[in-house]
Amino acid sequence: MRLLPLGIGNAFSIKYNNTSFLVETDKKYLIDVPKNLRKTLDKYSVDIKDINDVIITHYHADHLGDLEQFLQYKRWVENEKPTIYTKQEIFDVIEPFYSKIFDNKVSDNGKRLEKQYLSEIFDYIELNPEHPLLNGGTKIEIKDTFHTVPTFSVKLTYSKRSLANSSDTNFNPDLLNNFLSGSDFIIHEACSYEDPVHTYVKTLEEYVEKNKINNIHLAHIDDNLESSLPILKEGKWYDV
Ligand SMILES: [Zn+2]
Ligand SMILES: [Zn+2]
Repeated sequence: MRLLPLGIGNAFSIKYNNTSFLVETDKKYLIDVPKNLRKTLDKYSVDIKDINDVIITHYHADHLGDLEQFLQYKRWVENEKPTIYTKQEIFDVIEPFYSKIFDNKVSDNGKRLEKQYLSEIFDYIELNPEHPLLNGGTKIEIKDTFHTVPTFSVKLTYSKRSLANSSDTNFNPDLLNNFLSGSDFIIHEACSYEDPVHTYVKTLEEYVEKNKINNIHLAHIDDNLESSLPILKEGKWYDV
């Protein structure tokens, strides 16, 4: 399994792209779709044609700001139907909005508009914290986090290797102990200030040191963050 961080910044970062990841198993999973996706993929020599599986951890703009563009590109340029994986609670919020965006298609050589359904644009697969999803050779597990909107951490397991991403969350020892820990590669969000819906890096550093967790990497960071823990590098491929 391989990981390519496409962005490691938080919502307001100037230095970094908004956080998203490409995870290569038997498919290429894109975790979240922030702005400038095509430019970023181009910069890191990834062909957008190879990406047809997208996991949406929550609907804050820094995580799905380019979802519409991605879907438009797949529909009109590639004539492809990607698959979106998310929680029902999240899908229920985004579905009416994207249904409106894709409400019509052109027919009769451009003379007429015709009803279009969202099911023509993408397939939806529900992720459920109660039941891991086995998708081809990849197991996808999620666990809810504490954030301002419904959000989940996600763990991908393939060929006996596993990668877990905290997604946006407050500092939560239960999430670390019972979900993220034990993975071969852990990505955790962190910020340089105390914030009730994000993880203060000092608290995380202390916990990681005390509990001897040695495979944690930081992402979703603000521009001022410095840490004794390793920070993921945008555009670098990691073997998991
Ligand atoms: Zn975020
Ligand atoms: Zn968020």
